Amino acid sequence: MNIRNSAGTIDSHTILYGVFGDPVHHSKSPVMMNAAFRELGINAAYAAFHVKPDRLRDAVYGVRALQYRGVNVTIPHKVEVMQYLDEVDEAARIIGAVNTIVNDDGKLTGYNTDGIGYVRSLKTETGSDLRGKRIVVIGAGGAARGVVHALAQERPSSIRIANRTKDKAVELAKDMSVFADCSGMGMEELSAISDADLVLNTTSVGMHPHTDQVPAANISFQPGMIVSDLIYNPLETRWLQLAGQAGAVVHRGLGMFLYQGAYAFEYWTGKPAPVEVMREAVMRSLQN
Ligand code: NAP
Repeated sequence: MNIRNSAGTIDSHTILYGVFGDPVHHSKSPVMMNAAFRELGINAAYAAFHVKPDRLRDAVYGVRALQYRGVNVTIPHKVEVMQYLDEVDEAARIIGAVNTIVNDDGKLTGYNTDGIGYVRSLKTETGSDLRGKRIVVIGAGGAARGVVHALAQERPSSIRIANRTKDKAVELAKDMSVFADCSGMGMEELSAISDADLVLNTTSVGMHPHTDQVPAANISFQPGMIVSDLIYNPLETRWLQLAGQAGAVVHRGLGMFLYQGAYAFEYWTGKPAPVEVMREAVMRSLQN
């Protein structure tokens, strides 16, 4: 591992990292990752690259040619990028998306740290053990696939998935049913559920600028139930505010973003990520 040069600036030994997305200039990953490198005294730099879909292949070849140590991949490239890699980790293959690439001397391996990042955040921030728990997931899009896969590894008693487009919920449940007891349903069937230990929103409903919307008005919040939202803009959604007012334990989406980055950092550097420093850097940036 290269140690930061004495001036703390970029020089000819600096190891390079980045994020590929379209759009990408709203990304908080550079702020978060550079804060982590600085904290650990690692001579590295992380930038945001606006990669259009028709240049994704070239961009990935550039990672090899320019010897970047790693990149993150965000919307809309998480699925397409897989075909350009040398290897895709088994979990990422089952999820069907890659958000982290590690470059080992020109061999590129793709991972998905979104779902495991979510679970690490949930367990760290709520102190909860998911074994035997009854989980309800709202939404069945790309983020839900990673999250449900990671939740299913925690030996829950059941995972019920509700989505506006019911077929997608049924398909996701089928894909993950080798790992846990999963079932899919339409949104209207949620009102029949009153025994969940954890309810999480993986849809984009409630995200800025539509902050007054809630993903499921027919869920009855119970004191002690964990209610979680993947959205972190706003930091606390209207839905989480309502859950908190009803006595539920609230888990916000920022933690998933931090811990997916923490896993990527750890895969690249082999060192524990300074999560609190990363959190402070992102919070400062969000406030500006
Ligand atoms: P996606 O693949 O486009 O999936 C969107 C999901 O939201 C689908 O289930 C979709 O249902 C549902 N949905 C969208 N509009 C809806 C509406 N008006 N009513 C009901 N359902 C609606 O998006 P994604 O990548 O999974 O992202 C979903 C959310 O997770 C976004 O808010 C994103 O910011 C957040 N996220 C957060 C993190 C983090 O680090 N915290 C990471 C990734 C994503 P249909 O299938 O019926 O269209």
